[in-house]
Amino acid sequence: MSERKIGTTCVQGGYTPGNGEPRQIPIIQSTTFKYNTSEDMGKLFDLEASGYFYTRLQNPTNDYVAAKITELEGGAAGMLTSSGQAANFFALFNICECGSHIVSSSSIYGGTFNLIAVTMKKMGIDVTFISPDCSEEELNAAFKDNTRAVFGETIANPALTVLDIEKFAKAAHAHGVPLIVDNTFPTPVGCRPIEWGCDIVTHSTTKYMDGHGVAVGGAIIDSGNFDWMAHADKFPGLTTPDDSYHGITYAEKFGKGAFITKATAQLMRDFGSIQSPQNAFYLNLGLESLHVRMPKHVENGTAVAEFLEKHPKVKKVSYPGLKSNPYYERAQKYFGHGGCGVVSFELEGGRPAAEAFMKKLKLAAIETHVADARTCCLNPASSTHRQLTDEQLVAAGIPAGLVRMSCGLEDKADLIADIEQALA
Ligand SMILES: *Cc1c(COP(=O)(O)O)cnc(C)c1O
Repeated sequence: MSERKIGTTCVQGGYTPGNGEPRQIPIIQSTTFKYNTSEDMGKLFDLEASGYFYTRLQNPTNDYVAAKITELEGGAAGMLTSSGQAANFFALFNICECGSHIVSSSSIYGGTFNLIAVTMKKMGIDVTFISPDCSEEELNAAFKDNTRAVFGETIANPALTVLDIEKFAKAAHAHGVPLIVDNTFPTPVGCRPIEWGCDIVTHSTTKYMDGHGVAVGGAIIDSGNFDWMAHADKFPGLTTPDDSYHGITYAEKFGKGAFITKATAQLMRDFGSIQSPQNAFYLNLGLESLHVRMPKHVENGTAVAEFLEKHPKVKKVSYPGLKSNPYYERAQKYFGHGGCGVVSFELEGGRPAAEAFMKKLKLAAIETHVADARTCCLNPASSTHRQLTDEQLVAAGIPAGLVRMSCGLEDKADLIADIEQALA
């Protein structure tokens, strides 16, 4: 069968019921699974057989939904995590340890910035942040002998910079390490980073994938393309025997599934940040309409950005779908449009003007959230990014007076009317 279209995968991917089985993905609300003999169960603990034994590590509901997202991204294996934060931490920590180094785009989500710059630093993992717009020379100069991964966001939250995935993948591969891309904002409906050379994709499924503000969650999808054995000295966790599983070598035994199997067997076992089956079920409801919703989010984002750009009280608008945007060409290449429904803008009058404007909005609510059906907005400098210094804010492309507006699925004429009255 030729590869089916993405919309069909959104609706039917990941789960195919047998005769007489539930049409909808069943919620397997069980912590444990029963076996007839200890020998049967022992094989699971040795990773000799696949199956379920405890929902801290794996659950069938999650695996159906992870399989759908894996197919959407064109990956080889995937897993769900309890949050986007857990997804990015697991993706990095699966190949980094004390003494490792990460090269990361400086233009990333505030929570991820903090995770890498503060919390992982305490674990002895070092980072060099580089501008997503750095030259190839600057990018290559950021690598060290102990670099183990390159990280970036396809469209950064909230700066809306667009990553040149091909350029970052090329540099990562030239230094023998994988590129990890957080693809939360465009979703695979807008962009499939693996097709551009990315090795591992992460998601906060809390955003567009759920799309209704219902369930916090994350996902990691591995392309299966990175050759761990070719760089065996850099990735001993994948290329040498794991004593906690009777000497299994993941890259030898699991091939394209090695990265995800290791993350499940070690990190889920030890950290336990799994998504609940109930949340995976909600996530799947969102995924069923992802291909229908994303174009509408983009349409509304584009309309709002075009309106704001012409308004005299607006100093600057950032939306990669605008011709005036420095990322326009890159956005055209990677998504063919603005990529998402999130628009950032700066009002004349800085932070006080932003606060006054947001108070006046009637449809757009003030929320620490983006990417759901209801339009919402936020001043990152006073909320999500308040832990950053002014210098870090500038490096992350988020001036103090910036408003981030996530355009929902309402009628665009009503959204624009709401913004117009609030600006007036
Ligand atoms: C929200 C977000 C995260 C964190 O995800 P949570 O589900 O809130 O833990 C990570 N990356 C990006 C791009 C995000 O927008």
